[in-house]
Amino acid sequence: MAAMNLLSLAPKSETRKVLVSDFDGTLWSHDYYLLFTDRYGGPQTLQAWHDYRRGEITHFEAMRRIYAAAAPGEESLRTLLHDHGLGPHVREGAERLQAHGWSLVVVSAGSLWYIEQLLAEAGIEAEVHSNPGSVIDGRLCLRRPEGTPYPSHQNGIDKGAVVRVWQERGCTVAFSGDGYPDVEPARLVPPELRFARGYLAEELTMLNESFLPFQHWGEVCDHLTRPVSRGA
Ligand SMILES: [Mg+2]
Repeated sequence: MAAMNLLSLAPKSETRKVLVSDFDGTLWSHDYYLLFTDRYGGPQTLQAWHDYRRGEITHFEAMRRIYAAAAPGEESLRTLLHDHGLGPHVREGAERLQAHGWSLVVVSAGSLWYIEQLLAEAGIEAEVHSNPGSVIDGRLCLRRPEGTPYPSHQNGIDKGAVVRVWQERGCTVAFSGDGYPDVEPARLVPPELRFARGYLAEELTMLNESFLPFQHWGEVCDHLTRPVSRGA
C-alpha cells in the first residue's frame, strides 16, 4: 500500500472548532464487539450484553467480558479489523474537516486497541479517549484507562466531560454518535451540531430533542464544512 500523508486533526492551541465523535457505529460503520461476537460469540457474550442492558453490570464490564470470552489469537483479531477498514469516505471527510479548521476528538467506550490501528491505517491523527487493550494469550484484554482526565465507572471514558471541557474553553463543539453512552454528550451540544444515528437517534426522538440524522460519518463532515449550513 502506498504511504499516506498523515492528516493531523488533533486539537492545537489555536483550535476553535472541535468535533467530538463516537467511534464504533459512528466514525466507523462497524462495531468491533459485533464483528467479534458474530464470529466468536456464544452464550457468555450474549449473557454479558443482557446483564449490561438490565443494569446489572457496567458497559465497561460487558465489553471486558465479551472480549475475554474467546481467544482467537492476535492475528485473527487483527484480520477481523483489516477486513473492515474505515473506508475512503472517512479519510475524505477528515480532510474536509481539517481544511475548514475542525479538530477531531474521538471518545469511545470500546478500546484503543482497535481504534488506534484503524486510524493509523487511514492516516488520521486525532485525540482519542478510550479503554486500553492488549492481546494476552490470544485474548483481547480491556483495561480501564489510568490517569485519564475523563474517567467513568460506567463506560471507562466520560464522553460528556470531554464535550464540556471543550465548551468551557470557548470552542464550538459538535458531537456525533449512535449508542447508549452517546445520549448524555449529544444533549450537551446544540441541535444544529448534534449528529445521531441508530439507538441515539431513536432515544433523542423519544426525548423530543432534535438532531441531524446521518448514515455515514462523511455526511457529518459534509454538513460541518458546508458554507451555508451553520449560523444561517
Ligand atoms: Mg457507537
